Amino acid sequence: MLNRRKFFALTAPLALTGNRLMAAAQNAPLGAPHPAPPVRGAANLPIVVSTWDFGQAANAEAWKILNAGGWSLDAVEAGVKVPEADPNNTTVGLGGFPDRDGRVTLDACIMEGNGNCGSVGALEHVVHAISVARRVMEKTPHVMLVGDGATQFALEQGFPKENLLTPTSEKAWKEWLKTSHYQPVINIENQSYHKQPPMPGGPGNHDTIGMVAIDAKGRVSGACTTSGMAFKLHGRVGDSPIIGAGLFVDDEVGAATSTGVGEEVIRICGSHLVVELMRQGRSPQQACEEAVKRIVQKGPERAKTLQVGFLAINNQGDIGAYALQKGFTYSVRTGSVDQVYPSPYYYQ
Ligand code: ASP
Repeated sequence: MLNRRKFFALTAPLALTGNRLMAAAQNAPLGAPHPAPPVRGAANLPIVVSTWDFGQAANAEAWKILNAGGWSLDAVEAGVKVPEADPNNTTVGLGGFPDRDGRVTLDACIMEGNGNCGSVGALEHVVHAISVARRVMEKTPHVMLVGDGATQFALEQGFPKENLLTPTSEKAWKEWLKTSHYQPVINIENQSYHKQPPMPGGPGNHDTIGMVAIDAKGRVSGACTTSGMAFKLHGRVGDSPIIGAGLFVDDEVGAATSTGVGEEVIRICGSHLVVELMRQGRSPQQACEEAVKRIVQKGPERAKTLQVGFLAINNQGDIGAYALQKGFTYSVRTGSVDQVYPSPYYYQ
């Protein structure tokens, strides 16, 4: 077991050379050994990791709970509520881009390491889809509620009814209607929504926060929330609320989450696959790589045109990340690290 001093001795050089290491990771051919992930070891608990650079602000909120000795489930819920409440984030919660009928529909799920889980799909009018998912887990005998039923449940539970369509997202939708061209853009997630004006089929058309955390007691939890693919067909549900696709958590192994084109993740039960590969002995990095390869094997031509990223953590706090294309980033927060890293990727 690493003591604190040894841990710092190991991670300090990594922090100093992090960019070089990650650049090397991106250039490494598939199957070649990748540099060690930036954070390793049980000595480093608690820990929280999230998809994308905006995960950093979410991690900071989760960290308040983890650092105070709190439960990872509370931490991941509090963490992902940050982008859900941000009207400038056009891909999660309030201000999320609508479907092609102009309706903002949210997908979210939450899971504990003991198998407890809850989920909502195509939820409307409620900002904090993740909290509704938690309520499904805690207050119903079910795992998943969708559409009108999910919204009805949320309102009955006292969640306020709100208009999630902001002037910005409405304008983007009306622009998109001029062409109605549905073409998710690769790596759109990596372009800061506030730097890019919304364009038809352009920036901000899909994105998700997936967050997994391990608290000081070793309890693993995860949360995943999104407004899904912008301008999708009404009723479309992606991977994010589907336990085993967008998120899977098991205290005995660790957790995984995903972002990108959800249809591809659903086809391979992506997050469950990553966790089961770790159970069989793969590192989080190897498991994420194998899941991405599976997507390539199932549809090599299709895979070239889209982005999927996996982020995983084992119950020792080792991290792995891998994507189809360049551009996927993830945020890590521990006692000693608060950083965004570029993920290695398949198509060099
Ligand atoms: N995975 C999400 C979905 O398919 C969107 C994304 O992460 O870009 O709905």
